[in-house]
Amino acid sequence: MARATLPKGRTRVRGDEVLDTAFIGHEDCLLHAMGTHHPECPARLGAIEDQLIASGLINYLARIDAPKALREQLERVHDAGHVDAIIAKSPSRGIVHLDPDTAMNAHSLEAALRAAGAGVAATDLVLKRQVRRAFCSVRPPGHHAERNRAMGFCLFNNIAVAAAHALESHGIERVAIADFDVHHGNGTEDIFRDDERVLMVSIFQHPFYPYSGTEGRSERMVNIPLPARSGSAEFRAAVTTHWLPALERFEPRMIFVSAGFDAHREDDMASLALVEADYVWVTEQLAAIADRHAQGRIVSMLEGGYALHALGRSVAAHLKTLSGL
Ligand SMILES: [Zn+2]
Repeated sequence: MARATLPKGRTRVRGDEVLDTAFIGHEDCLLHAMGTHHPECPARLGAIEDQLIASGLINYLARIDAPKALREQLERVHDAGHVDAIIAKSPSRGIVHLDPDTAMNAHSLEAALRAAGAGVAATDLVLKRQVRRAFCSVRPPGHHAERNRAMGFCLFNNIAVAAAHALESHGIERVAIADFDVHHGNGTEDIFRDDERVLMVSIFQHPFYPYSGTEGRSERMVNIPLPARSGSAEFRAAVTTHWLPALERFEPRMIFVSAGFDAHREDDMASLALVEADYVWVTEQLAAIADRHAQGRIVSMLEGGYALHALGRSVAAHLKTLSGL
């Protein structure tokens, strides 16, 4: 079970509403590495931590160690064969490539189990009202991992494991997944395309890796492609015009966020031009929907974000808004 380290005097309660926000991670996530110069690097988590310390935000978060996801939790969204393949490919030393961008070292399996387990723990904590919201600062990321395929730096689909846990283990009727990573969350779409209990709203640069997300648009797959060089105005217009009406109609009972910060202006992985204020704004919009329909419940998971300073600042801005501080 997850271990909570609530600082003394930090559990502020208004009525029966616990206001604390959990910050969930694990040191195993720092040991997963895919080779020198790979942008999805352990230093990403350090950059986030540094910014939370510098801003003082860290003192207002309940730090939780992520448990490992159980096999049955992974198999809600992945074929057993996929789980077997990831376990089988885990090397005892050196690096094994799963695709040109995605690799495992001796610690990657543990890190991937912790990353998926973070989402499960976050979901449990929020639904048991031990915290109101949670952010999982974990890697490897997850939203490119399909039911049967690891790709794009992702081994298991962490946000899908978390959402499926809310649906299957807690009996939540409907959940929404909001994905503002600069890349389309093809894995999440692959997993939930035919699940009427899930609404996915996403915004991503297009045409761009993984070159998906423009075909299967439906009432429950609200994928909004933006051309390169789009910035705050285009992003906010897409959220206002497409995401918010869909979310209002769907009335999700819990909101999950695939929080990638690689659409930031300083991130040269891609060519969108968001800034911290956009992450604050979109988090406010999602929080308002959650307050109206979902008792405020939000679980957010780190996806991309490779410009280290911008990543740290953006996560701090997102978390400050998420926690209502
Ligand atoms: Zn990304």
